[in-house]
Amino acid sequence: MTLVLDEQAQAAEACSLENYLQLPDHTMDERIAAARARLGSSTILLGHHYQRDEVIRFADFTGDSYKLSKVAAETDAKYIVFCGVHFMAESADVLGRESQQVILPDLNAGCSMADMAEISQVEACWDALARTGISDEIIPITYMNSSAAIKAFCGEHGGLVCTSSNARQAFEWAFQRGKRILFLPDQHLGRNTGYTMGIPLDEMKVWDPWGLAGGLSAKDLAATKILLWKGHCSVHQRFLPGHVDAVRAKYPGIQVIVHPECRWEVCQKADAMGSTEQLIATVEQAPAGTMFAIGTEIHLVNRLARRFATEGKKIITLDDTGCLCTTMYRISPQHLAWALENLVEGRVVNRIAVRKSVKEWARVALDRMLEAK
Ligand code: SF4
Repeated sequence: MTLVLDEQAQAAEACSLENYLQLPDHTMDERIAAARARLGSSTILLGHHYQRDEVIRFADFTGDSYKLSKVAAETDAKYIVFCGVHFMAESADVLGRESQQVILPDLNAGCSMADMAEISQVEACWDALARTGISDEIIPITYMNSSAAIKAFCGEHGGLVCTSSNARQAFEWAFQRGKRILFLPDQHLGRNTGYTMGIPLDEMKVWDPWGLAGGLSAKDLAATKILLWKGHCSVHQRFLPGHVDAVRAKYPGIQVIVHPECRWEVCQKADAMGSTEQLIATVEQAPAGTMFAIGTEIHLVNRLARRFATEGKKIITLDDTGCLCTTMYRISPQHLAWALENLVEGRVVNRIAVRKSVKEWARVALDRMLEAK
């Protein structure tokens, strides 16, 4: 007996991801552009600055997670294809309307920092703080780089979300409403932000979710103004103070600018610290002839180096062994072509849909962030 696949099954087979992954990168460009054109205004493609060139060049909007979350909140497009990582797509789904659908071309595009805070660990931390009698004084703030469940936790407990662009405003918002902050999950962004607000290092203690009672005594907690979660970005934590010394010795006069996910010691040595968008603006505003060493993800640094070379600005990475966001890199042209061509055929693949109960409180925390800036 001959097995004949019906038309739909044949199309689905042709659109299976395995078939795409065998194809070379350069064959994807035309297919992505054609699918994008056919989808028209029904679809927008968002690209994070750390995304690889072969993918980000198709983005309708590029930006850091704050800028992209605003675009996601304002677009009328039915489909939002997010070329970023999982927590960004979740945030887009939380901020979007019921009729919109968010697609992450590769579900393996996660974030190692976001994975360092599990909701069960955060709840256990909060219970421990309640036993010490200080949870009523604490406003929880989570960095955008966290799961929707943790954003919802913050919303439900009177807190909010922040990004590296608006962390200071979020901290000020919190200190108007409470005595202390629990900051999740990036200890470095929390410490750098608190320090620029004049909070001494010994009033910012680290909560270790794997340690007994977070590794802190009741006395430690009583003396803490900002409780920092023991998490970090594996890309930005690689930059060391020695890298700053080395580029200054090699290139006298060079400007060192770094992302606040870098260690406090690195940020202290740098000439300036800022979010991805702020780093870009610093380079844009500098006079011709300026040389920068930038401490952030390598795809963005390389792109800036190419873009500003014609203006006589020289840009290098702070650490020339290269710092790649491997999870962001998982979104390949093949994954993007696969997601878009399926969409052309009316199939939504890799949809990111946050549970309704989580969505409601996460939305509260995200809305507070959008209002705080
Ligand atoms: S650069 Fe760091 S924080 Fe950003 S997505 Fe990659 S691992 Fe996460």
